[in-house]
Amino acid sequence: MKEVNSYVLKVASRCNLNCSYCYMYNLGDTTYLKQPKFMSLHTITALSVRLKAYCDATGVDYIHIIFHGGEPLLLSQDYFIDCIEILKSTSSDIKFSFSVQTNGVTINKEWYDLFKANNVKVGISLDGPKKHHDEFRLFHNGKGSYDEVAQAIRIGNGNGLAGILMVINTNIPTREFYQEIKELNVGKLNLLFPDGHYDRLPNGFDGLKFGDDNYTPYADWLIELFLIWKSDRLRPIIRLFETLIEMVAGIDGIGNQGFGRTKNGVVVIETDGGIEVTDSLRACYEGITRNGINVHTSNIEDLFKDDIFEVYYHAHDMVCEQCLNCPVYDFCGGGFLGNRFANHNGFNNPTIYCRDMIRLISFIQNDFLQSLPLDAINSLKGVQKLSYADVIEDISKPFLVKIDDDVKQKLISFKQPVLI
Ligand code: SF4
Repeated sequence: MKEVNSYVLKVASRCNLNCSYCYMYNLGDTTYLKQPKFMSLHTITALSVRLKAYCDATGVDYIHIIFHGGEPLLLSQDYFIDCIEILKSTSSDIKFSFSVQTNGVTINKEWYDLFKANNVKVGISLDGPKKHHDEFRLFHNGKGSYDEVAQAIRIGNGNGLAGILMVINTNIPTREFYQEIKELNVGKLNLLFPDGHYDRLPNGFDGLKFGDDNYTPYADWLIELFLIWKSDRLRPIIRLFETLIEMVAGIDGIGNQGFGRTKNGVVVIETDGGIEVTDSLRACYEGITRNGINVHTSNIEDLFKDDIFEVYYHAHDMVCEQCLNCPVYDFCGGGFLGNRFANHNGFNNPTIYCRDMIRLISFIQNDFLQSLPLDAINSLKGVQKLSYADVIEDISKPFLVKIDDDVKQKLISFKQPVLI
């Protein structure tokens, strides 16, 4: 039985922003239009009954709930109090933790107080300095949302703001970017690679250069940022860097959707109660995540029979042949599943960030090794200096490890369906 601890509740299917890169609204899937605008308390109750049954059957005793959207703060403060009460009282033997991911434009001290009182960690999305944030994160009238979000971060510091989430934008000079997070006094930050795949490359890639062995714009940007970050004694936590350092240091169990070899244990609950795989896969094509499984009619475990969930859960094991033969596979894990998609062969590809992964991982591994005394390096079994060029050469040779044919066919089976 799969162990799934994290549940992303899409409590609102609409948003007060209209970010240009958003997978919910602007990257190929319009099925949100058929969803109720908000998740009802009736659906929350049905979910909590399903969670209790799932935990009773599996022995899972810890569940993390992430209130998400659309924009969750379109709902009332009472709604969140009721949700937490329903979940905790229906499933009193489960230990719950809660967080909320908001675009930050309406959060104020009163909201922070409410979340603090209910042990809900607050995450805010920001895309860098005003000029760059306002290019993408817009209100529906076209106005940028930076001023509101920066104000929300300032209020949140010391009042329950747990961290900032940013989508990497390589157009922002790294010094300017770092100065911004210092000025806003950000204590914890995570960086996300933009959604995208082989048939819809993110803006940070020049389509003419994409695929060249020495073209690694995301890694170049991240390495520059890493060096600035590392030289700052009062640096904030940057989760992406710390994850990579922990992995190369050999700490067990480190990884997430985008890196490493751990299982992907996140389930999404839609506003109508639909139980689905992570919704950022919707950037692949219309309806790819839809499956007819719903908390009102189905058990949580029914999702585990869904093919796309199976591939997502095992995404770092179910990889293409190139990844199986790659020297940095254990750290990269083939990258996030959605970034491996191509219309003609589904997920049977390395991530579009493959070259960037090799450059970034080899840099961080070498940097880490350089910081250690020789006897410590010798005790790190199997971790050695890596050359970017050597890794590229290795994955260009005939592959020694062969992909299991069933895995290959399963990955390919998600190719873009031909519409008749
Ligand atoms: S770096 Fe490229 S080839 Fe290596 S595991 Fe990652 S995606 Fe696969």
